[in-house]
Amino acid sequence: MSLTAGVVAVQGDVSEHATAIERAARSHGHEVVVHEIRESGVVPDCDLLAMPGGESTTISRLIHGEGIAPEIRDHVAAGKPLLATCAGLIVASSDAGDDRVDELGVIDASVERNAFGRQKDSFEAPLTVAGLDDPFPAVFIRAPAIDAVGTADVLATWDDRPVAVRDGPVVGTAFHPELTTDSRIHGLAFFENDATELPLEESR
Ligand code: GLN
Repeated sequence: MSLTAGVVAVQGDVSEHATAIERAARSHGHEVVVHEIRESGVVPDCDLLAMPGGESTTISRLIHGEGIAPEIRDHVAAGKPLLATCAGLIVASSDAGDDRVDELGVIDASVERNAFGRQKDSFEAPLTVAGLDDPFPAVFIRAPAIDAVGTADVLATWDDRPVAVRDGPVVGTAFHPELTTDSRIHGLAFFENDATELPLEESR
């Protein structure tokens, strides 16, 4: 099955997500075409979406300004998968604790921006993630932590704080799975999520 993917590309690490999506799709037997999304009208054609890290205040301002925000909400409401990483998680949350972020509210959880202290601004940690057999090499860069979780399920914690959650078709991570060559988190979000309508495995 040939899939259409979108990476929200108003700001942040876009090409890395595109590469990870291609890799994850291939390992699940799918072909995929990845679009970079900078304006409205593209999201409705996408089977799956990624919203990258960057600066959450900037991403929030631009996706609302360009009319992309309501399209992302509709995408999720239709049960299509979204992977939101780091700043993307902050924007996808229901409460970013910052007036400059207009949250999408597609992950029922509140977050704290830049939660992992100054000396630990950036670090890599082997993270145990529900659904993955082996630890994931998680890269944290000025990462948020997740504070209160509503309907979202916690997939991973670090320092006793949730850093990966799943809420229906949406997976959110405080870290950057696109910055490694390990595409298992993308696989988990897009092809191993029972809450979405994507086929798990293409029969060949
Ligand atoms: N600290 C950034 C923010 O609050 C997120 C950092 C990132 O995406 N790596 O928006």
